[in-house]
Amino acid sequence: MLAGIDYIAEKTRQAIEVHEEDYTGTDGLLYCGKCRTPKQCRIEILGQIRIPYCLCKCEEEHDRRIQEEMNQERTERLRRDCFPDADMCQWQFASDDGTGDQKALSAMKNYAEKFKIMQEKQLGLLVYGDVGVGKSFAAACVANTLLTDGYSVKWLSAIQIGERGFFRNEQEQEEYTRCVTSPDLLILDDLGAERQTDFTAERIHSLINTRILTNKPMLVTTNLTPDQLTNTGNVQKNRIFSRLFKMTVPVQYTGSDRRKKIMKQNFHDVKDLLGL
Ligand SMILES: [Zn+2]
Repeated sequence: MLAGIDYIAEKTRQAIEVHEEDYTGTDGLLYCGKCRTPKQCRIEILGQIRIPYCLCKCEEEHDRRIQEEMNQERTERLRRDCFPDADMCQWQFASDDGTGDQKALSAMKNYAEKFKIMQEKQLGLLVYGDVGVGKSFAAACVANTLLTDGYSVKWLSAIQIGERGFFRNEQEQEEYTRCVTSPDLLILDDLGAERQTDFTAERIHSLINTRILTNKPMLVTTNLTPDQLTNTGNVQKNRIFSRLFKMTVPVQYTGSDRRKKIMKQNFHDVKDLLGL
């Protein structure tokens, strides 16, 4: 045991830099000349005194800052990799304009804040409602909150999945599967908006199935109602969707079309500008 401790002490000694201004205190330990806290400590193990090196306050702070910077870089990299559109990195609950469905938005905020519990329960969300009510905005807010908290999130749009053809090689397919299986939360945006071909349907169902098998949560947004999703007229599809329902809490997102509202406002602004 002593040999092990001596080995660790030697490794620590190699990692500690001794500077000119460092000095030996009245207790015989080495002190940092900058922050005046010890760079050594005295411990007794099995009746023997050992004086290994340790980090002084300023080195501890330096290490903490480097670790923090590394964490931040990781978060920003994951954020860039998450979304198909860089603007979405900015979508936050705090930037909501208050015109959408506040009850649904608040439920999604709670989901993001209690994600650890949701993860343990293996529960995701099925956010459904009409086009343009703000489902995708709210889903991106969930993603950004989780990313800030250190979770990994991947955003996949059903339309893009539908437009994507066959994989060119095994590597491309593996990369895609990794996107589906590895993140802590997978977001499938706009389910049902993809082109309805057998190929697309198969791709979407295989994605949902693959994700379900990981027992990790997913957040799905869709313009379809739960009834429309469970009565597809296809037994296999119905089975996959009914499994999806068991793993997601339905959240109905109501309200009027925000995009139309913005377009209407823009139109009025331009009319004013033109003096019409
Ligand atoms: Zn120091």
